[in-house]
Amino acid sequence: MLSENYILNIPETDKKRVVIVGGGFAGLKLALKLHRKKFQIVMLDKNNYHLFQPLLYQVAMSGLEPSAISFPLRKVFQNTGIFFRMAELESVHPDKNELITDIGRIKYDFLVLATGAKTNFFNQEQIEKYTLQMKSAPDALYIRNRTLENFEKALNKKDEEDVKSYLNVAIIGGGPTGVELAGAIAEIKKYVMPKDYPELDLQNMKIMLFEASSRLLSGMSETASVTASKYLDDLGVEVFTGTPVKNYDGRTLTLPDDVTVDVKTVIWAAGITSDKIAGLELSSYGRNNRLIVNSFNQITGYLNIFALGDNSLMTEPAFPNGHPQVAQVALQQANCLAYNLKQMIANKPLHEFHYTDKGSMATVGRHLAVADLPFAKFKGYFAWLLWSVVHLFSIVGVKNKIFVLLDWSWKYITYDQSLRLLVKHKTRN
Ligand SMILES: Cc1cc2nc3c(=O)[nH]c(=O)nc-3n(C[C@H](O)[C@H](O)[C@H](O)COP(=O)(O)OP(=O)(O)OC[C@H]3O[C@@H](n4cnc5c(N)ncnc54)[C@H](O)[C@@H]3O)c2cc1C
Repeated sequence: MLSENYILNIPETDKKRVVIVGGGFAGLKLALKLHRKKFQIVMLDKNNYHLFQPLLYQVAMSGLEPSAISFPLRKVFQNTGIFFRMAELESVHPDKNELITDIGRIKYDFLVLATGAKTNFFNQEQIEKYTLQMKSAPDALYIRNRTLENFEKALNKKDEEDVKSYLNVAIIGGGPTGVELAGAIAEIKKYVMPKDYPELDLQNMKIMLFEASSRLLSGMSETASVTASKYLDDLGVEVFTGTPVKNYDGRTLTLPDDVTVDVKTVIWAAGITSDKIAGLELSSYGRNNRLIVNSFNQITGYLNIFALGDNSLMTEPAFPNGHPQVAQVALQQANCLAYNLKQMIANKPLHEFHYTDKGSMATVGRHLAVADLPFAKFKGYFAWLLWSVVHLFSIVGVKNKIFVLLDWSWKYITYDQSLRLLVKHKTRN
């Protein structure tokens, strides 16, 4: 373990060192908000870019390039004095105020863990092995490749049942990601496939959305859920609520009562969990491995180690089971912690975090979206427009905003997802 002995080459100064692990919504916001004269800021991330996950589904559905929703962290930190190292966290040693990564070790005065979440397959090995997940840019590209490849294969199948299995698409999980994916693929079936694959009988293609609970978008209002179901139904998506998927073996999806359906493209979007970090007390973990924090984001049992965003579990009266794992929570917590760290080194009182819920939205397709805002609930064209504007303005980088706007405008005018490239390495797909 050479890397364990190597000390990361970051200059020692008399400023307090804040090591932030994770350059997602929470980590990036904190790094940019922290007072640079008072702290030495070191950001570690296993990737060298920040990823805007809410638009991953558009990469998976050939609507956007991954580069349009990713932003190089080194570019964000130009002229800021913030140190960046591409490194994967391996363990934390709170007794020595030190953490170990795959490229070496580093000391900290304050450590902030903002490592986000990963897909939760709920220990179902076959499902994990055979379904597609969508948590990273490579995941989304893999879905794009597999979906397009399966359509190509369908063309060359003679047996009708085979053709159906290659054309069918199943999405498991009726949260915003599942709903958005289902809507996007239904639009591809409607607008793109008749032109791209005129030889295929699209009556043979089913788009199915399975949700274990009794309704879609369970984090949103009942109205939003009913409206989303109706929009999907109008687009030809078969929605099955109260239907937990039992198994998938690479060809056959097994549903309750041993009902089966043959489908080659199955996307799992049914839950998230976090990785446990070696070195932290087991009692620091709550449900789905989220790190239990107090209202200052301090992890239970530690004074100078914090968790932010998706991997933190903070309760307050309005959120007894913890905050929703969404970008707004991550951003607001980061703002609060930036202030509190400054207060801490000045021995001044800290500010308790309270989440301000600005509402939630989900889009199903062109002019079809639902929005639950604190002051109003609405749907249709205005919800879709609001969803588009909010997402466009939230993407990091002017170039990225322009590219996304161009891709969206092109798609809006032509009804075409223009990036239907099957880009594969010759030995790996
Ligand atoms: C498909 C999808 C759609 C979504 N849609 C929405 C939406 O519409 N609206 C919304 O509000 N939220 C949405 N979310 C949720 C939102 O993206 C998250 O809540 C948000 O990203 C959380 O921010 P974070 O900083 O906690 O974690 P992340 O943004 O996930 O960042 C974590 C960072 O940590 C890094 N990292 C992880 N492990 C390590 C390690 N061991 N070592 C080093 N670095 C590591 C990762 O590379 C990543 O950069 C969506 C999520 C997904 C996956």
